[in-house]
Amino acid sequence: MNPHLVGNWVDVAGEALETGWSRKALTDLAKLEVPADILGDMAWVIRGDAAATWAQWFLESLIDSAPYESREDLGFAHLYEELRRILRDELHACPMDEVSALASQIAKVAWREISFRRESGLRKSPSKEQRKRLWLRNEPDPRCYLCGYKFCEAAKDRFLNGGDIGDIARPLLFDFMRPRGLHAVDLTIQIDHVRPVRAGGATDDENLRFACGWCNRAKSGHMQLYGASSWVNHRIQHPLLGWVSIPRPLWVVRMTQLRARCEDPSGCSATLATNELYVAPKRTTGAFNPSNCRIYCDVHDPWAGIRFVGEKVLSAKSP
Ligand SMILES: [Zn+2]
Ligand SMILES: [Zn+2]
Repeated sequence: MNPHLVGNWVDVAGEALETGWSRKALTDLAKLEVPADILGDMAWVIRGDAAATWAQWFLESLIDSAPYESREDLGFAHLYEELRRILRDELHACPMDEVSALASQIAKVAWREISFRRESGLRKSPSKEQRKRLWLRNEPDPRCYLCGYKFCEAAKDRFLNGGDIGDIARPLLFDFMRPRGLHAVDLTIQIDHVRPVRAGGATDDENLRFACGWCNRAKSGHMQLYGASSWVNHRIQHPLLGWVSIPRPLWVVRMTQLRARCEDPSGCSATLATNELYVAPKRTTGAFNPSNCRIYCDVHDPWAGIRFVGEKVLSAKSP
């Protein structure tokens, strides 16, 4: 860590944090390059998710997709011509063949998005046959693709035969970083659209996965880290660790799914396909967040034995 760079950056960032709505503080912060040490080893997700958001805003700023989503008569050629016109006006010093090439590149990406969204209105929930097919694809070891949780027999019965949710036994203890099971619905098998329906995700086999109710709710319609809602984001008094922050569920789900394997330095082979995976902060003095995160299997979990707590601990009101 470069103490000078980090110190200077933290000073300027501190101003922006303190005065959230100050134009000057934000302009000063935006001028500085973010030191690599700030982002941690998950910088690729943190930067990647931000860049994906910017790309989406850029596309939407050029062309409002609403008319294309609503009017079938507006096709790709129309979109391309419109983009070419817009870019020609903005890039008047640029040769026309370069403008056309850029319009074509942008039109292809924008059209893919528009096509997804056009179809999303026609989506139905998965058919009975599809559910059966998905089941067979996940046999013999159906797990949540986001956390690796192995579904219980009652959840299987409910999924296949419409069994009663009351038959799904709630656990006695809960992982305080991911308190799945506080509600029976957390333990059910749900069909998740990897690309959310809201973002145009299709109801076809490629886009459908089994998720536990907890992860499915945490992921919801999100595609990046930055949309995290703050539900269940609070502090608990852990009997051994003392006061700890409970991370935002979306972070837990996204970081686990993107790493997808145990990160123990021994080179453990556990993955989401074979094991349930747990999150813990890399720097144990700090709170878990996208900059401070490690994924472990139950064997290498540094919090094995203290991770699971009773409902009372989770529901106690923090001061
Ligand atoms: Zn899950
Ligand atoms: Zn492991």
